This record gives sequence, C-alpha cells and structure tokens, in this order.
Amino acid sequence: MEYTFSLEFIYLIASITYILGLKMLGHPETARRGNLIAAAGMILAIFGTLFLYQGDEVPNKIYILIAIAIVIGTIAGWLIAKKVDMTKMPELVSLFNGMGGASAALIGLIEFHHYVGNQLYIATIIAGMVIGSVSFAGSMIALGKLNGTFKKPIRLPKYNLLNNLVFLAIIAFGIFMVVSGTSSQLFLYLLFFSALAYGILLVIPIGGADMPVVISLLNSFTGLAAAFAGFLYGNKVMLTGGILVGSAGTILTFAMCNAMNRSLSNVIFGAFGSSSGDEAEGHEITGSIKKATVSDVAILMNYSQKVIIVPGYGLAVAQAQHVIHELEQLLDSKGIDVKYAIHPVAGRMPGHMNVLLAETNVEYDKLAEMDDVNPEFANTDVVFVVGANDVVNPAAHNDPSSPIYGMPILEVENAKHIIVNKRSMKPGYAGIENELFYNQKTSMLFGDAKDILTKLVSELKSM
Ligand code: NDP
Repeated sequence: MEYTFSLEFIYLIASITYILGLKMLGHPETARRGNLIAAAGMILAIFGTLFLYQGDEVPNKIYILIAIAIVIGTIAGWLIAKKVDMTKMPELVSLFNGMGGASAALIGLIEFHHYVGNQLYIATIIAGMVIGSVSFAGSMIALGKLNGTFKKPIRLPKYNLLNNLVFLAIIAFGIFMVVSGTSSQLFLYLLFFSALAYGILLVIPIGGADMPVVISLLNSFTGLAAAFAGFLYGNKVMLTGGILVGSAGTILTFAMCNAMNRSLSNVIFGAFGSSSGDEAEGHEITGSIKKATVSDVAILMNYSQKVIIVPGYGLAVAQAQHVIHELEQLLDSKGIDVKYAIHPVAGRMPGHMNVLLAETNVEYDKLAEMDDVNPEFANTDVVFVVGANDVVNPAAHNDPSSPIYGMPILEVENAKHIIVNKRSMKPGYAGIENELFYNQKTSMLFGDAKDILTKLVSELKSM
C-alpha cells in the first residue's frame, strides 16, 4: 500500500475533522455542525483516496464500479435519511450501523486469500470479519426489535450456555485458522456464517428495557471492525475513524449500563424484562385511575409556579415536539418556571429526546438531566408526563420483583400533581405495568399527544 505525502496529509485533516465533529456532537447546539464537519472530512478522505492513492495499478473498470457504488449509496442514503419519520430514526441508525459491520465483514471475505501466510494480517482480517458479522446480524435483529417485528425476546433452551459455546467455538476456530495458515475458503465461510449466527443469538434473548445497551454495544463493534480494516490497509484515517466510533460506542455502552443500573455482563447474560408488547407482564397492580380533561390540566398549569415536562417515546410517535415547545413557551410567557426532564434511555435511541426537541429549537438550558432534575420534583407543582412510561415507573424503586428494579428513574411521584398523557393503559417498551398511573396524585389525560397538546395550548391561550 502506498500513500503519498499529500494523501497522508488529507487523512490527517480528515482525522481532525472526525475528532472535532465527535466533540461537537457532545452538545446539541453544535451537534449539527459537528456532523457536517465530520461528513466533509469523510468526503475528503474518500476522494483523496480515489485520486491520490498510488499503490498497485487499479484497472479503470474498478473506478467505474466504485463510482457506481458511491452514486447508488449516496442517493439511497440521502433519500432514506430525508424521508424517514422521526419515529423510525432508531431503526435507521441500527440499519446504518449494520451496514458498517457488513462492510467490514465483506472486506475480510475479499482480502483473506490475499494474505494467506501472513499471520498478523490473517488475524486482523478474521477479527474484523467476525466482529463486523456479529455487528451486522445483531443490528438487523435490533432493528426488528425496535420496529416491533420481534415483540418478545426469544430464549432458546439453555441459551446462555449455547451462546457461550458458539462464542468460544468461533474464537477457537479463528485461532486455528490463523495458526494453521489455512487457505480454505470453506473454513472462511464457515467462520463467517457462525459469526452471523452468533450475532443473532446474542441479541434475540435480550429483553425490552436492555435494548439501549445492546444498540450502543453493536455500535462499538462496528467501530472496532472498521479499525481492524484500517490496520489491514495501513489506512490511518480508517483506523482513526474506527477507533473513534469503537471507543465512543464503548463509552456510550457503559453510560447506558449506568442509566439502567446494570452491568454489561448482566445485560448480555441476564435476560432482563420482556420485550415490547401490548400486554403488561409481571406484578399485577390493582386500584383505580383518575381521569382529567384538557380544561382541568389547563387550569392546574395556569395556576402553577413550576411545571416539569417529561417527554418519552410517545412524543416522538405523535410528532408533537413543535406543539410541546409552543406549550413550554406559553407557560414561560405566563411567568411559570418550566423545563424538560430528560431520562437517558427515553425514546428508542440514545439521545432521542434531545434530538427530537432540538428539531424545534428548544433552548438547551431548558433540558435538565435526570440526576440534576430529580431533587427538583419535590417542589414542582405539576409534572406533565407526555408519552413516557418506563422511565417514570416507580416499580424501579419499590418493587424488588419488577424486572426494572434498580433502574434509575425520573422521580416524578414526588411532585404535587402528576399528569400523564398517553392513549391507553398499555405498557411501554419493557412491557410492564406502571403503578404511577394509580397514584393518588396522578391524573390520566388520555389521547394522542399532539391532539391533546394542541387543545391544551389553545385552552391556555384563552385564559
Ligand atoms: P415507553 O416505551 O416506556 O412508553 C411510551 C409510551 O408512550 C407508551 O406507554 C405509549 O402508551 C405512549 N404513546 C405511544 N404513542 C403515543 C401517542 N401518539 N400519544 C401519546 N402517548 C403515546 O417510553 P419511555 O420513553 O418512557 O421509555 C423508553 C423505553 O424504551 C425504555 O424501556 C428503554 O429501555 C427502551 N429503549 C430505549 C432505547 C434508547 O436508546 N433510548 C433503545 C431501545 C429501547 P399508549 O400506547 O397507551 O399511548
């Protein structure tokens, strides 16, 4: 592989854009620009490689194929990203992540026979291919879990033992392939399909509330697989990009584990909760609920001093982010102290609520993180839970038999009044009942979030 000085320089600039972009993604105000900067760096790296790389002679037909692939990929990616509903965004992220894993796996399949005899490179190829395949297959299953195709976790008999055996077999077989110096394509495909199978086996038993951890774990796998490919080609920008994605994904995985108060091994081997479904599972709650009307809630809010809004997945489903911003501004104009309480796993992807609310230009100082906002609920007049469920479920504190016991939640039950907007009594993603709805301080405001919020805004305007 020969990289000219100018190409290496371009890679350096591109690597800097990735680091800058990643840093800027850390804050909603700079995230959009950070994304564009990193994307510009990626374009620079791709075109730099195409025009400045001076390695082996590349036949013209390969350039034509690359150009066709770039055009198809760009158009397809652009159209899909443009058209996707906000609610489908987590699935899209899973799909894109899976494609990254698939690319790394394909590099392994294609390059294997070029490096037979070189143990270091074969080890790199095999590691990249296995991790990429696991990431691809796992991401496809995660996609199915997010869009409801797989409603319940599928647990084969002794699935933990089975998964561990498959995992160990893959490692042992990979080592055998490296040490033996085999050139067998059959072995390569056997390893490839076993890794795909392991990706499926790894994700199918994982229950609803643990999905955020799995999604970020798969993300870090893709980064790692890309880093192996970067090492193989001696391509520094690919290596940097892969390491950044891999380490960011790993940090996010542990942040998500903290948010769920779970260890990584517990998530992977522990089978937590059930998956999304319409029937609640676990501890049955008896009691009655209190219903409120839009007028009741408008009056309550109008005479409050402090209101905290808790957005959840239902807000994204209803596409009610603009009208909730309108409500917040209206309350603000009435001199009411208002903010949003953001739970780290609210929605269906890490940062989902931040992304949703950023779309409407909500001021960032209005967004409060869980640990900061929890002590505030006790002196809050009204907590308005909109389309959130699992992230406010007090069973996480009170019910040791609950599958989410121990998970940190937004402690909304400490507020003076709790208003919950959702369409029915159906459970959230983790598939468990919520005793908050039966709390004496809670009033249920049933209906689609957008519809309810629109009526609430007009009612409040008339006061
Ligand atoms: P939940 O899934 O717990 O609850 C969402 C609620 O929104 C439902 O109970 C639903 O009730 C209601 N809802 C749906 N549509 C509407 C609508 N149009 N208008 C009003 N309400 C609506 O969401 P949370 O955000 O509280 O919790 C997130 C869950 O998802 C956690 O269990 C988390 O582990 C999991 N998860 C999170 C990921 C992440 O990375 N953030 C990834 C994967 C899973 P109803 O049907 O009655 O309206």
